[in-house]
Amino acid sequence: MYCFECPVMCGADRENGEYGVCGAGRTALVARAARHYYEEPPISGTRGSGAIFFTGCNMRCVFCQNIGISRGEAPTGAVPADESALADMMLRLMELGSHNINLVTPTPHIRLIERAVPLAKARGLAIPVVYNTNGYELTDTLKRLEGLVDIYLPDLKYVSPRLALLYSGREDYFDYASRAIEEMHRQVGLLELDGEGIAKKGLIVRHLVLPCAVDETRRVLDHIKAALPIETCISLMSQYTPIPGMKKPLDRRLTRAEYRRAVAYAESLGFTNVFIQKRSSASGEFTPEFDGTIE
Ligand code: SF4
Repeated sequence: MYCFECPVMCGADRENGEYGVCGAGRTALVARAARHYYEEPPISGTRGSGAIFFTGCNMRCVFCQNIGISRGEAPTGAVPADESALADMMLRLMELGSHNINLVTPTPHIRLIERAVPLAKARGLAIPVVYNTNGYELTDTLKRLEGLVDIYLPDLKYVSPRLALLYSGREDYFDYASRAIEEMHRQVGLLELDGEGIAKKGLIVRHLVLPCAVDETRRVLDHIKAALPIETCISLMSQYTPIPGMKKPLDRRLTRAEYRRAVAYAESLGFTNVFIQKRSSASGEFTPEFDGTIE
């Protein structure tokens, strides 16, 4: 069966050994399945988010922090997972106390996820499922996840085609991501928390503020205000960390002044539910070891 699951629509015959533009082949590879403590507070909570990191990605961000796995290469020890193995990973992470199951870069593996989540639920999975995506998604594909995903955690990286092409190789990013996020909101609505402040259901839109790009952040926030309720939860991230060899202006961290301007703009628009990061958060600790660890 040819794969047309994401906006790249490369048509790779993955069932018969071809690899997609995303780097994914017939079998999903899991680079890490472990509790993760560096997501937003309602996702990580106190006991961690049960993060399952897949290899492969349908974007080509020049600043990618997960470059070791995002091009689809198999890191040492990456574990092949069929639906039963993936369901078992979810159950194990629940047993360890994770607040949720956090599927990281899930898009190339959506067919597997469609089968694994119901199987895990039949075996006793009773915590929310988080779909943690770059946002470059087809709405028709997302519709198949309705009722399986409780929390959507998409990026909205850019509005401008120029920047999307320059930094992520996907000129049409906003066209797809903006429609995808509206579909996510239709499915799960605004963020809902339990009595301890842990997410039960809903949408959190992430945006990473980039150096010399606060104007782009303003465009992103303007769009969210126009397209979604003002109570929409936004995570405004300051954690940009340059990888070695980055060219200007991406060769430095965000300045305090840049982040302050981004936060001030979000406040000026009247958003009531914005996660702000400490700038000291910008470090490699957000990126765990992708060594095939399966807790
Ligand atoms: S998910 Fe991967 S294989 Fe499928 S269309 Fe997108 S890039 Fe191609």
